[in-house]
This record gives sequence, structure tokens and C-alpha cells, in this order.
Amino acid sequence: MNIAVPMVSLVGAGPGDPELITVRGLKRLQGAEVVVYDELAGAELLAFVRPDAELVFVGKRCGKHALEQERINALLVEKAREGKRVVRLKGGDPFIFGRGGEELAELAGAGIAVEVVPGVTAAAAAGAAAGVPLTHRELSSGVIFLTGHEKPGKPESSIDWRALAATRMTLCIYMGVKKIASIAENLVEGGLPIETPVAIVSRASWAGQQTFLLTLSELIRGEHGEVPAPALAIIGAVANHPRGVAILAEAAGNRA
Ligand code: SAH
Repeated sequence: MNIAVPMVSLVGAGPGDPELITVRGLKRLQGAEVVVYDELAGAELLAFVRPDAELVFVGKRCGKHALEQERINALLVEKAREGKRVVRLKGGDPFIFGRGGEELAELAGAGIAVEVVPGVTAAAAAGAAAGVPLTHRELSSGVIFLTGHEKPGKPESSIDWRALAATRMTLCIYMGVKKIASIAENLVEGGLPIETPVAIVSRASWAGQQTFLLTLSELIRGEHGEVPAPALAIIGAVANHPRGVAILAEAAGNRA
């Protein structure tokens, strides 16, 4: 079967290590005439782009977007209308905190053929880097991805910390490391034990990757110090998985 390649592919680049893009993502990149990318999408991947392809950087620099989202959307539509094969390369997975939904809606609304190529999201890469399973038969029956940085100007937080704490599931917090002490406070006020383990993974899959193993109480006291961006926090029993397993084994021994 010969499926036509759409004009625009929203491609997940993965967390940074170029080996973590999918085979399909790499094929689309190699075939692209225009690549629109942001800085989190590993720059090393650009080595696979055709020499005659047009590269457009639209990422954040010093906290400012090089191009506003509406202009990114307009650019994708314009390049596709020129008949070019366009890759919109996005860090991690395009549909997890990546505004991929907005880009898809804009392109589909303009009648442009578009596909989404998923990517390895930062939480998966962070778990792999830290040796932390995001779910575990004994420790956590689910995982929740949430942002620590809501859309500016949102009247009130849509995050119900008490409800989150009550799930006892693994919480993966994107874009939250600057506010991690207040997030930890909210979770403890919401009912999570103050000694709940936390793994903060900085630059997962990059050369300078680091893992900080802490507890909510240590975060509230600011003991994590400076954590290089980008970083993601994994909160819950799995975050100190070997110790979590030991605690469970001890509890089982006490019951016996
Ligand atoms: N679409 C992306 C997320 C974009 S939001 C994805 O699916 O991964 C950007 C946030 O992702 C950062 O603030 C950070 O919390 C996280 N992040 C991205 N890359 C990361 C990496 N290599 N290591 C740790 N966290 C990362």
C-alpha cells in the first residue's frame, strides 16, 4: 500500500539524545524541504536534514519566543501551501505540553494534510535515566503528567492538589522545577506524606544528565539547590523504587 506522505508532519524529536527519535520521525526529517524546530528538539538531529532544506528556528531564547505561536502556525500553513514537505520538529512528544494540538487544529482548519509522529516524552526519558519505573505493580497503578506552569493569566489554578494527592499515583511534573518547593507544599497540604520520595531528573538523555533523589520535605526546605533546565520531577513511591520495595518487604515481614 502506498500511503501519500502528508504535507506537514508534526514530529516528536524525543528528549534530546538523537537516537531517541522514532524511525518514522527520522524518515520524515530526511525527506523534509522545510524544518521548523525549537531548541529542545535536539540540535544534533539537524545533521540528518537534506543540505538544501530550509531550517527555521522558532524556539524560546532567554524566555522569549523567537516567533509567537500564531506566527508559527501561519508559517506552517504558508510553507505547506507552497507545496513543500514540512516537518515541525518538537521536543519529546508533540501532544504532551507541546502546543501540538493548536498547530494540528490550525493546519487541519486550513485544509492541509497533516500527520502526527509521536515521540519519547520527557517523563519516559526521565524514568529511564533515573531507573525509576513510572508504574509498578506494588507501588503505583498509574501515572499523571501535569504542568507546574499554567498558562499565564489563567484566573485560578485548574490543578486540584488534594485530588491528585489522593490518587497516590506517580506524578510527573513538567515545567515545574522553578516552583517545585511550592508544588511540594501544595501536595503535602493535599495529603501526601511529607517523606514521599521525589526524583528530579535534569537533562534526561543529554550528556550532562543528573538525578536528584529527595523527599517532599527536603524540597520544601529548598535542599535541591540549582537544577539545570530542562528538568522534570517524578513524585511518588516509585521515585525511590529500591527503597520503596524494601519498605514494602519490611511491612510484609512485620505482618507475617
Ligand atoms: N513535549 C515535551 C514537553 C514540552 S514542555 C515532551 O513531551 O517531553 C518542556 C518541559 O519538558 C521542560 O520544562 C521539562 O520539564 C521537560 N523536559 C523536556 N526535555 C527534558 C529532558 N531532556 N530532561 C528533563 N526534562 C525535560
